[in-house]
Amino acid sequence: MALIVQKYGGTSVGNPERIKNVARRVASYRKKGDQVVVVVSAMSGVTDGLIRMAKEIMPLPNEREMDMLLATGEQTTIALAAMALHAENLPAVSLTGAQAGIVTDRVHTKAKILNITPRQVHAQLKAGNVVIVAGFQGETREGQITTLGRGGSDLTAIALAAALKADLCQIYTDVDGVYSADPRIVASARKMKEISYDEMLELASLGAKVMQSRSVEFAKKFGVVFEVRSSLNDNPGTIVKEETKNMEDVVIRGVALDKNQSKITLVAVPDKPGVAARVFKALADASINVDMIVQNVSHGSGRPATDLSFTLEKADALKTQKVIEQLRKEIGFAKAITSEKIGKLSIVGVGMRSHSGVAAKMFETLAKEKINIDMISTSEIKISVVIDLAKGEQAMRAVHAAFIR
Ligand code: ADP
Ligand code: ASP
Ligand code: MG
Repeated sequence: MALIVQKYGGTSVGNPERIKNVARRVASYRKKGDQVVVVVSAMSGVTDGLIRMAKEIMPLPNEREMDMLLATGEQTTIALAAMALHAENLPAVSLTGAQAGIVTDRVHTKAKILNITPRQVHAQLKAGNVVIVAGFQGETREGQITTLGRGGSDLTAIALAAALKADLCQIYTDVDGVYSADPRIVASARKMKEISYDEMLELASLGAKVMQSRSVEFAKKFGVVFEVRSSLNDNPGTIVKEETKNMEDVVIRGVALDKNQSKITLVAVPDKPGVAARVFKALADASINVDMIVQNVSHGSGRPATDLSFTLEKADALKTQKVIEQLRKEIGFAKAITSEKIGKLSIVGVGMRSHSGVAAKMFETLAKEKINIDMISTSEIKISVVIDLAKGEQAMRAVHAAFIR
């Protein structure tokens, strides 16, 4: 008898028929004698719809109330999924994140899991129930509802699999697995049999939304091997696990495009010690994650000044503007320019460590397409460039064709 954690994303529970489909799949495992814990997302579009309504009321809603609102999406699905299992004559019980013992810090809308005490999950499994847990949510030590950042149901599933020492963790979604690029943009993308945590982590944090990046980080830390597969068929999916020797043979594992970034340029920032520290400390204090940073060479005579550009998630742009207004009063730069029309294109592969000329080939490919590069950043296993958003998909297809055959 195995203990299996299965996570079903928004499309997989998108309507009552799909939820019944999930129940049938769960039933087939249960009938083999396995214990099943099911983690579900909100039905597709529901979280977006809730955010839209909140923003119609005010552009920057209180984050505690936002979590109170967003947590309702998953709560709808757990109840419907439990009913669908009852309709299959299987005992099942739904639990909120808090009831499942998921304790988080107090950072509303992107809370981190501090610990999990799945007492009720164990008890319900022992009583013979399928346990259905609301993804994406937890509660603080003080009993406030929190959410784990967009795509956070992946994290709920992986964290529960670790806490329960599950034998198997399956992430069911609307594609057959992890591809070398988003199959909706690159028709020739290839499904991978397996991928290392590090490569999956880079792809996820660089825009491949098939897995939430924090969930992959968690899986790596706790050694949770998981499979990404489709809820719509029985095809084998992609196994995400520790790197093995032969993985380095492939230079580029995948290409990702992030269309959800904004670029902010602070113009004529005083070029003196402590200024960058002040800027990025203020952003960090507001829980804004900054990604790429570029500082130009100093210009101006007398009082040297420089331009400072950085990228961050579009969702944080409004919050950032407030922080920047405050900073402008404090450190006195000329102005801040925000650009939403950027795309970040990245190539990822552990094989980059042992192959040279990868960056040159990527830049040449973009040059041939007459695509200008705005910012560049690299790590041991990835190269990212910021380009014009309108050319993002064209660039992605060209770079994919150049590296992946
Ligand atoms: P879920 O609701 O199941 O969590 P998501 O919409 O969050 O599903 O993620 C699945 C989507 O991720 C796919 O429909 C696909 O368009 C997109 N995607 C982006 N990059 C990739 C990739 N490299 N491989 C597979 N899917 C990808
Ligand atoms: N419903 C949440 C979202 O849309 C969490 C998830 O789907 O994983 O981001
Ligand atoms: Mg998702």
